[in-house]
Amino acid sequence: MAKIGKLKNKMPRDKSTWLLVIPVLIIAALGLFSFGDNGGMLQTPATETTVATSRPVELSFSDVLRRAKEIKTMNIRGNDASGTLDDGTKYNAVIAYDPELLTKLADGGASISIDSSKSFWERTAMWLPIILWIVFFWLIFRGPRGGISRSIASQNPTKITTGNSKKTTFKDVAGIESEKQELMEIVDFLKDKEKYRALGARVPRGVLLSGEPGTGKTLLARAIAGEANVPFFAASGSDFSGIIVGLGVAKIKEIFEMAKRNAPCILFIDEIDAIGQKRSMQIHNDQDREQTLNQLLIEMDGFSSNTGVIVLGATNRVDMLDPALLRPGRFDRQVYIDLPDLSGRRDILKLYADRVKIASDVDLMDVARGTTGFSGADLENLLNEAALHAVRAGHTEITTNDMDEARDKIMMGPRKIRNIRDDDKKLTAFHEAGHAFVSQHYANVTDPIHKATIIPRGRALGMVQHLPVDDKVSMTLAEVRAQLSISLAGRAAEEIFFGSDKITTGAESDIANATRLARYSVTTAGLSDKIGLVAVNQSSTFGTRTALENASEKTAEAVDAEIQNWLKTAHNDAKNILSHNRATVERLANELLQRETLTGDEIREIIAGKKATAKRATKTAKTTKRKVAKK
Ligand code: ADP
Ligand code: ZN
Repeated sequence: MAKIGKLKNKMPRDKSTWLLVIPVLIIAALGLFSFGDNGGMLQTPATETTVATSRPVELSFSDVLRRAKEIKTMNIRGNDASGTLDDGTKYNAVIAYDPELLTKLADGGASISIDSSKSFWERTAMWLPIILWIVFFWLIFRGPRGGISRSIASQNPTKITTGNSKKTTFKDVAGIESEKQELMEIVDFLKDKEKYRALGARVPRGVLLSGEPGTGKTLLARAIAGEANVPFFAASGSDFSGIIVGLGVAKIKEIFEMAKRNAPCILFIDEIDAIGQKRSMQIHNDQDREQTLNQLLIEMDGFSSNTGVIVLGATNRVDMLDPALLRPGRFDRQVYIDLPDLSGRRDILKLYADRVKIASDVDLMDVARGTTGFSGADLENLLNEAALHAVRAGHTEITTNDMDEARDKIMMGPRKIRNIRDDDKKLTAFHEAGHAFVSQHYANVTDPIHKATIIPRGRALGMVQHLPVDDKVSMTLAEVRAQLSISLAGRAAEEIFFGSDKITTGAESDIANATRLARYSVTTAGLSDKIGLVAVNQSSTFGTRTALENASEKTAEAVDAEIQNWLKTAHNDAKNILSHNRATVERLANELLQRETLTGDEIREIIAGKKATAKRATKTAKTTKRKVAKK
């Protein structure tokens, strides 16, 4: 942190000053040369007329400057100007391109028009020097605190949107109940800061909303502001990088200042990965971006959580974010927004279907069934496309056929929603059911299941999430063994229910995870009797097979054999558990196939043999960290 403090942003500011000043000087100088002679070319001597005559009076340039206040209108064509004075007198004048002129005319409230017989470029070229001069002087005289990049930042204001046009509330967000619930606390805090302050409760300063595009992150952020009735400021990470070095830093300062002035409020930063990318991932050493990130960190550290500014960041690439952003006091709360599951999709469809005319035979549940992988935005778009199709087809209301056409169009559209074959879906359901069942089997030693889903995310076709009960720093041997079984249970289920010739490559990351854990246990944590309390592989990097240091050939072989053995034992264990509970696992898989997502409670109910309640328990999930077992 000390390093960040020192870095501040001295360097780029100097650089940016010169980057900007030099071209401005050059252009302005050119401008003066090209128009300089006109400036002195004053025509007829001044004739002061106070009586309105039909013949226009001729004004010299200095007259124009002197009497600028009296000028009511001015039409400019090249260097000629004409118009009327306040008293109705018409005038003709020759003008030069003098910065003073514009200011004076503007002060006097004159309405100026530039004759359009000149091409846009001609006109721009003529007025450009003046504009540049104005900008230039304005920048120079803006006081010491500003500096150029700062002023530029205010010149290109970050799109700050305050949401009072139409208030968005949680009613406008459908299908993601548990996420809403999770964010309710923030609404509560914004509404009643005192309550939290009195208790000394620490409220998150930053919440990171992550999830695929179109899952409603922006919508949720707006809704939080709407629910709490506080201003909503939005900026996008991509606004913070520009050609001018130091611009990002200045803009970050600007938005945070604005937010603090308007607290309590929501400050929403979309595409935060554009600023907060892992430093190691940047292709070239992008110093400017790093400065911007540092500034963001400084700002986030700089206000106490009691100021009432809540920063919501959104990204679909959490894995790319610099870990510094995720530390306590920054974006220390993460809410993952999943693609909506079956009932979620139906709810979203219903929300938007109420706004269009839909035939009574359209079954939204059917539509929901056929739209796995669609985001909220896709579903909204689906209804919109269907309405358009209906109009084109001359229907008076949206029919099932319109919906189908729209769906196909969207699936083939730019977002290319993966159309998962029913066979794959079924296999995935059993795979995840395997993970889930074995997890529940070991519920007394491992973390409880948070949820299981067969909605694809990234490359994974489905996943089972666990909820850490507490922040563990170590694992017991029993826990390691259980974890290995859970990891390999997906593949085990595929073998049991589909036969060993139908197994898939889908267990790739399970196997990688299990191998990493087994290797760590055997070579580093001293959990294996055979190998003993020897650190064999000190240079291990994330389970990649590096040469065993400090080990004889013989030990290396023993280590390999031991890892194999642990994994084999775990695999057999998982197969045992599953084959002894075939009926239950099958029930679980079918339920998953039907509903796509099951919460931990629902999984436990199904396993216990109770019919899972149809109504979703909107359990809050207090997670800072979720272990994710990808398929
Ligand atoms: P993101 O910020 O995650 O990319 P947005 O919030 O911009 O997604 O979503 C785009 C639009 O899609 C929203 O304005 C809204 O109209 C619609 N939408 C997305 N998710 C939902 C949802 N859960 N409920 C209702 N509308 C949604
Ligand atoms: Zn798996």
